[in-house]
Amino acid sequence: MSRDQYTFVNPAELYADIDIEKQHQPEPGLDAELDPKADLGEETYRGTGRLTGRKALITGADSGIGAATAIAFAREGAHVAMSYLPEEEVDAERIAGILREAGVTVFTFPGDLKDPEYCRELVAKSAEALGGLDILVNNGGKQIFNEDLTTLSDEQFDDTFKTNVYAMFWITKAALAHLTPGSSIINTTSIQAYSPSDILVDYASTKATMNAFTKGLAQQLAPKGIRVNAVAPGPIWTPLQVSDGQPKKKLETFGEQTPIGRAGQPAELAPAFVFLASAESSYVIGETLNVNGGMPTP
Ligand code: NAD
Ligand code: MG
Repeated sequence: MSRDQYTFVNPAELYADIDIEKQHQPEPGLDAELDPKADLGEETYRGTGRLTGRKALITGADSGIGAATAIAFAREGAHVAMSYLPEEEVDAERIAGILREAGVTVFTFPGDLKDPEYCRELVAKSAEALGGLDILVNNGGKQIFNEDLTTLSDEQFDDTFKTNVYAMFWITKAALAHLTPGSSIINTTSIQAYSPSDILVDYASTKATMNAFTKGLAQQLAPKGIRVNAVAPGPIWTPLQVSDGQPKKKLETFGEQTPIGRAGQPAELAPAFVFLASAESSYVIGETLNVNGGMPTP
């Protein structure tokens, strides 16, 4: 490793400006077909034993932020259960291979987060396979832009809420049967929760809901020794963005509006999840850790 996440660099110049050629993928996009490739920390994340022996379930673990988090967790010593859509098998297999190289056990459970039965089974199977559960990362998410509310279909509104909000509820509720004191729940919210775009009304609403869910539940579970927190990314280069997460014309300048002047890479998110999952953050509860290139947050 020539560089790892501890190497001091100029963060403004850490990544070359991504030259995003016009590209489109059907939902869900694949990391395998993303051009240029996203940095998931494959070559750079160095573990220091911060999650040794922990048992983590991560949704949307095949690509993007979830995959970078899975790689970091595995290199910190955690065993991982991965959730993703069956269409994403190629991405999931690659990530599972990288995790296994770290010497941890990995289980893959493809399915649809919009299905409450899948969500409940995902938790039961993960806890059984891992021999318990002490980290839950609700990260899988749906984002489809829409320019005019009169054309926002009931189906899309429903699917976005099912994927982002209901699945988090179903999975977290089921996980409470397994989580013991010291466990950590982390929800991936978004800058959209408090700075909603005009074209992401449904998506932004789910992220605001997730933020409130996080802060409310955090208070409920704190006395039980279970911490609930959120990570709120800004514009990050992932397949979600090229599968109708943004209009093509917006992708050309993706991330340039941030104070740091560039889009973030999934690898830059992973340390935030590691911090919130590890025992280091014992007094951090109901927090939203913003990783957004400097955009002001409430
Ligand atoms: P991504 O496409 O790599 O990950 C999203 C994952 O969600 C997919 O890989 C897929 O496995 C999962 N998913 C979606 N619908 C599903 C369904 N019905 N059933 C099962 N799994 C499903 O993109 P990402 O950007 O890494 O997204 C991860 C999280 O980060 C999402 O919650 C997203 O809202 C959030 N986020 C992303 C950005 C960004 O700029 N990329 C910004 C803020 C928040
Ligand atoms: Mg994916």
